[in-house]
Amino acid sequence: MTANDRLAPATRAAQALRMIDARTGAVVPGVEPASTFARDEAYAPRQRYIYARDGGPTVEHAEAVLASLDGAADSLLFASGMAALVTLTETLAAGDRVAAPRIMYHGGQSWLYRLAERRGIHLDLYDQADPLGAARAVRGDTGWLWVETPANPSWDVVDIAAAAQAAHAAGARLLADCTAAPPCALRALDLGADVAFHSATKYLNGHSDLTAGVLSLRDAEFAAELRGLRALMGNVLSAWDAWLLIRGLRTLFIRWERSSQNALAIARHFRGHPKIAQVLYPGLPGHPGHAVAAAQMQGGFGGMLSLMVTGDGAIAHDVARLANVFLPATSLGGVESLIEHRKAVEGPHSVVPPQLLRLSVGIEDAADLIADLEQALERAG
Ligand SMILES: *Cc1c(COP(=O)(O)O)cnc(C)c1O
Repeated sequence: MTANDRLAPATRAAQALRMIDARTGAVVPGVEPASTFARDEAYAPRQRYIYARDGGPTVEHAEAVLASLDGAADSLLFASGMAALVTLTETLAAGDRVAAPRIMYHGGQSWLYRLAERRGIHLDLYDQADPLGAARAVRGDTGWLWVETPANPSWDVVDIAAAAQAAHAAGARLLADCTAAPPCALRALDLGADVAFHSATKYLNGHSDLTAGVLSLRDAEFAAELRGLRALMGNVLSAWDAWLLIRGLRTLFIRWERSSQNALAIARHFRGHPKIAQVLYPGLPGHPGHAVAAAQMQGGFGGMLSLMVTGDGAIAHDVARLANVFLPATSLGGVESLIEHRKAVEGPHSVVPPQLLRLSVGIEDAADLIADLEQALERAG
């Protein structure tokens, strides 16, 4: 156990594991952008670094912070969340079975459908809104169970411990997409997941200024296989973005708390509102996933919530257009609040109801955010 392990996760994050620069004493380590590393007199690598496609000092620092927060044997950083998922699925072989949610992050879903069409992967789809859906989807020959919690855009909550039990009973691995519940709120590996995936583009970085993806692994051997694949696929995160991500991670805990408080205030304000038919937020006791979320998450329920407007989809579309404080953009988990008409963004094949507005609530003043939604609802339709 190192000195860092005895400190609370919030302390480890705020100090980025207290990796003081050995040459200068700087409390903020520098960025090391080198693509290649010189050998010593004996022609051996001076440290373990050879070439930046394998990773480098700045990427490793960010990975160490993430592994510490996730309680992982190892965490790997990629150039985007999708790069991480694509690399993970490169370990699948033709004939392998994957159980995945029918409604899940659309990029990951498109990739799995492609693997099913072109690479001989068997895909079993299940309904994530059904608390037993994931467990029932697991068959004797399932290789991977894929869950997302809370899941876009209804914020259904998956009981990770129950999903892990079902997966492991069948000899399958559990992958948890925890993008909407970062490790300050939920430690999927502690609950039994084999891989915790995060799009670090979202809460982990938190400032909407980079794309990155993380795989946190329970098993060091599997992590080593993935490190080898990442080097071959060439999709490691750049040193500059790893450095920015370290800076973002320092404020993860307070950003999460503030976003959660703001989202809860918005959810409570619009619950029962004449222009809102339904508020989808796991922090509200009426949400079907509330009890599981309360048991497996800490520090709040996060900043993601959806509002179903009364009336037709044109009203929701108008609200997204007429908001002034909320920015009309996709993505989530940043300090600035975003509003999205998901149906319009996903296109005609989208299964998202047209009345749904997806909000990513940031750290601004809650009263400003509520007043903005009120004025947009007033002017819409
Ligand atoms: C954004 C996102 C991803 C993909 O991550 P990128 O960084 O955009 O490649 C995967 N899953 C979820 C839930 C996401 O929100």
